[in-house]
Amino acid sequence: MSDSDDNANNLPDGQMENGHISVDSQFNFSRERHSGTNQASDQFDIDLPTSHRYLGKLDNVTGYTFYDDGEVATLAAIQTNTLVFPGFTLPLVLNNDLEINMLQRHTSKKNAFVLLTPDKTFKGFFTYGVIMEIFETHLRNSVLYLKARSRQRCRLVPGKEIKTLIGDLYQVTVEVMLEPPPTSPLCNTQLNSLKIRKLFNCTEYREFYKYRKFRLFHLSQFPLASWVYDKHEICFLHHKLVNALSNYYLIEFIPDDPVQLSYWFVQNFQLRHEERLRIMVLRTAVERLRLELKYLNMKRLICCAKCDAEIAQHSNVFPMSKDGVQSNYCNPEGYVFETVTVSKATNFTLFGSPSAQFSWFPGYSWTIMHCKMCSSHLGWKFSSVNLKPAVFYGLAKSGFDIKIVKEESEVL
Ligand SMILES: [Zn+2]
Repeated sequence: MSDSDDNANNLPDGQMENGHISVDSQFNFSRERHSGTNQASDQFDIDLPTSHRYLGKLDNVTGYTFYDDGEVATLAAIQTNTLVFPGFTLPLVLNNDLEINMLQRHTSKKNAFVLLTPDKTFKGFFTYGVIMEIFETHLRNSVLYLKARSRQRCRLVPGKEIKTLIGDLYQVTVEVMLEPPPTSPLCNTQLNSLKIRKLFNCTEYREFYKYRKFRLFHLSQFPLASWVYDKHEICFLHHKLVNALSNYYLIEFIPDDPVQLSYWFVQNFQLRHEERLRIMVLRTAVERLRLELKYLNMKRLICCAKCDAEIAQHSNVFPMSKDGVQSNYCNPEGYVFETVTVSKATNFTLFGSPSAQFSWFPGYSWTIMHCKMCSSHLGWKFSSVNLKPAVFYGLAKSGFDIKIVKEESEVL
């Protein structure tokens, strides 16, 4: 069985052929998912993948030590080829008895470990990582199933040894990095006479827009044009990014909170690994949103990592999970795949028969996808006889690269 597939009938509901989402379709999509009609029962429930039901029933674990800004902690660390930002979930499967014992011993008190991120060459560790909270775990037939949620960003303390415990398990010393509260570039330099009328610490774009006139009066005392200061307001950046993203994603899934949005973007927008690392370094949401707006204006293609063959267009990306278009899933061997869901794909062949075993999307069977040109592994085709969409594709991040086709002029 082999063929490329670009059948428009495979597009999920709510998405037009060009991959953009019409306003009418957004409402239909939302209505169908939430109504109790027979038709609604056929629509795939996007809450299911985030629960990682394929891991079976796990036991809840409670208790997480929230670290202060700058606090130094020595914790167990796990290396995967994936990258997780605060608020997102990582499933893990451990098959090795020694690794299981070691991890349990090092996480029994704090229920936390550090997730190490590969550097841009994928040969070493990146200086920045995240502290993960274990919230569900279960040992079944000598296999440890585990779910962890990313809680706080951290960086490796320079000069401290990364000690190998066993296999991909390490012990590291990290410094915790908390998000500083967002501030306006003008909040400390306002004229007293104008302060009475309105503080310029705007957190909502509507407010920012409403008091534009007073803002201009105030800004006349500074040498630069007013738009320079505008572009450093978090509500301005948030509004601009949400507006641009609503062309690609359903607005109901885009976070309202600017900090969460800056993380959500990395998890959902198709970025090159080095671009994601660059965002990971940035300390504040304002800096991240500014860089993300720049990345958003670059036209991108999803290509085979080995031979560069075009696999999908960026507009074909769509969410099959509440976490967004890109989530981490684990196979029975314990390998974590960061997977992007697309409605259409091209230049691939299918390998083997469809299987429903350990399916990350309940109700769907998966078939392995290989590149038509170089036969490297690309991901999986998911198909269902009674769910909508009937067919979609899960592309493994390890199998593809993002090619920047054309750099648009910068908006910021
Ligand atoms: Zn290829």
